[in-house]
Amino acid sequence: MNIIKHGLRFRGSFTYRNRTDEIIWHHAEANCTVEDIHSWHLNNGWIGCGYNLIIYKDGTVHEGRPLNAVGAHASGHNSRSVGVCCIGRYDVETMPKEQLDAAKQVQAYLKGLYPGAATKRHKDVNATSCPGKNFPFSEISGASAGSVDVTTSDVQAQSSDDWCARLQKECNAQKFSKQKVDNIPGPDTLAGCPTLGRKSRGKITALMQERLNALGYDCGAVDGINGTKTQAAIKAFQRDYGLVADGIVGPKTWSKLLGLS
Ligand SMILES: [Zn+2]
Repeated sequence: MNIIKHGLRFRGSFTYRNRTDEIIWHHAEANCTVEDIHSWHLNNGWIGCGYNLIIYKDGTVHEGRPLNAVGAHASGHNSRSVGVCCIGRYDVETMPKEQLDAAKQVQAYLKGLYPGAATKRHKDVNATSCPGKNFPFSEISGASAGSVDVTTSDVQAQSSDDWCARLQKECNAQKFSKQKVDNIPGPDTLAGCPTLGRKSRGKITALMQERLNALGYDCGAVDGINGTKTQAAIKAFQRDYGLVADGIVGPKTWSKLLGLS
């Protein structure tokens, strides 16, 4: 098994667990990247990504915090549990086979590392619906302990990593805002995003398309033209996130695109 490290910059130092009694499983309740989770958790005022491991839908395994660091994922249990998060929304989606296979392998690995640890869902320890009713918990937790060889690799910074910074910069350049360009979405970022009408055009429209594409919605080419395909993608996104599907990217839609609420 390979664990991909993202070179995340944490705002503070880790504390480390001296015991690991629980393996706690989560879903992200979103289709997103490690970088997204990291910025959301920074935005919560945490030092950064709260999970130790994150499993993508393609079956790749990613490091959030180091495996033996205390996480921020299950209130009251962080100091003695390892937190694993599967990308996706398993309240409504079904887990792809690649991700399920990877999750079983991670479970086998963690059981091997922490033989006495109990395997739980987030909802078993806190008042939450995480990881969702469709999460295949019994299949994952049933994986038996194994000695899994682990390698690590570094992810190359992807172009979407600085998406928020480029958006902040463009909103400033077009005089919609005068905000700090720090690549961390916050209230100033949201306030600086102009409402994009159904036929918007330009660099901010292109950034909106880029984001929707990265989140798994299909705007087609990132061309800065809000056409038929982009409209369909916006409306699908709005429906999925419980917004009025009007094709207009106003504050509520921007807020979801920024991962703020
Ligand atoms: Zn959770």
